[in-house]
Amino acid sequence: MAKHRVTLIPGDGIGPEVVGAARRILEAAGVSIEWEECQAGASVFRKGIESGVPAETIESIRRTRVVLKGPLETPVGYGEKSANVTLRKLFETYANVRPVREYPNVKTPYSGRGIDLVVVRENVEDLYAAIEYMQTPGVAQALKLVSRKGCEKVVRLAFELARAEGRRSVHCATKANILKLTEGMMKRVFEDIAQEYPDIEAHHIIVDNCAHQLVKRPEQFEVIVTTNMNGDILSDLTSALIGGLGFAPSANIGDEVAIFEAVHGSAPKYAGKNVANPTAVIGSAILMLRYLGEFEAAELIENALLVTLEEGRVLTGDVVGYDRGASTTAYTEAIIANLGRKPQTASVRQYKPLRIPRLRRDLVWVQPNSRRVIGVDIFVETAQLPEQLGPELERLSQGTPFRLKMISNRGTKVYPPTGAMPDFVDHYRCRFLLREGVSEADEAAIIELLRRVGEGYRWMHVEKLSELDGALGFTKAQGED
Ligand code: NAP
Repeated sequence: MAKHRVTLIPGDGIGPEVVGAARRILEAAGVSIEWEECQAGASVFRKGIESGVPAETIESIRRTRVVLKGPLETPVGYGEKSANVTLRKLFETYANVRPVREYPNVKTPYSGRGIDLVVVRENVEDLYAAIEYMQTPGVAQALKLVSRKGCEKVVRLAFELARAEGRRSVHCATKANILKLTEGMMKRVFEDIAQEYPDIEAHHIIVDNCAHQLVKRPEQFEVIVTTNMNGDILSDLTSALIGGLGFAPSANIGDEVAIFEAVHGSAPKYAGKNVANPTAVIGSAILMLRYLGEFEAAELIENALLVTLEEGRVLTGDVVGYDRGASTTAYTEAIIANLGRKPQTASVRQYKPLRIPRLRRDLVWVQPNSRRVIGVDIFVETAQLPEQLGPELERLSQGTPFRLKMISNRGTKVYPPTGAMPDFVDHYRCRFLLREGVSEADEAAIIELLRRVGEGYRWMHVEKLSELDGALGFTKAQGED
């Protein structure tokens, strides 16, 4: 067996106990790993390192390219950004893979139904770019950024994962019915890429129905690929279906680096008590072994885990209650003692190597055949009602190439009046389109319009409205024709 180098981050709270358990089991299974133990999280923030991730840890990950980590805390008053998110972003681990399966003797309302599915969550884009602005003192905005390249990477990974794990279907869960451009991008990319995988069934599902179906009939799903925010929520739901966070492993996969960790956090109330369930980190270590090509060792450990649960003599407090649960170490030792045994009823899936899709690493500039600016949205802050604002903007835009098409308030058209009865806030989107006979707006015309609007109003945000290959590159307001 080749020797692998792995960066080991024990983490905070219960982290050192559960990561320590996984390490002991890997060593007992004879896996040859040279660990580079590194720090990140609370202790690092307290030293005054703002990111929570010191340079030595980054250096180690650049060397090893593989990380097994415990949960990290961001202590109150130290830095604003989570060290977890920093690690995921630094190494562009674009896919968060969260498998869940039914375990023997872990009783849930779903026991006996054979839940065995994977949520593949896009891991770096979407609202988690966390680009936020106070548009007015009373209205906040977050940018939801979704790229074709980002969707393509995660969707390809989901199909490759289905193939590697012998799964027959992939569902793509989006909110494309409402967010036609961002969530719609994921749906369109999924439908394109599905053509390249004729051996796998591909289904699109609206994310809210996906949540509903997961609670009603989770066994219908094998792989669910989804955008970041959807995936965050759905994957906590799927963890709960099989017994909770103590059983939910994950892998953060990128082109160059993979980070394996439990879905759970540092569970501070159990820290240092030797009672936490280490299964989620052990499961993450099993995912890591398969990533490293150590299929036999992965199966050996997964079998020992299943035997331990099947026998049910040594189970942790989250399963049987903390008054009679086994300690983390007793449970770990039981798994070690069961190495080499096979479970009676539960079984281990057969895995093939996961082919990580390789997309171009250079900057991708997606160029349309034609592009035309046909208008501009100017966002203004005012206490006026639309019936005052509309005529005033019409007056200010006279003599420019633009006419006021409509005004919306939180996405609903309010001018010209539609009969809607919205509750107004001080934040309006004012949509100007080119007047009849004007084919394109130049920068000077947009700046002149902005200057004129600025004479009467405080504007805080501007968007060009483009037509890309003849299709509108923006959505219409509710009620806009
Ligand atoms: P948490 O640490 O996941 O704990 C929530 C609850 O889940 C615990 O109180 C416990 O439930 C149960 N639980 C989690 N892990 C368990 C285990 N191994 N064994 C048994 N039960 C377990 O979530 P949190 O309390 O919201 O977060 C605590 C800290 O962790 C925060 O600072 C957060 O930012 C951080 N965090 C880090 C990561 C990461 O590093 N990836 C992820 C999430 C959160 P009961 O109370 O029902 O027993």
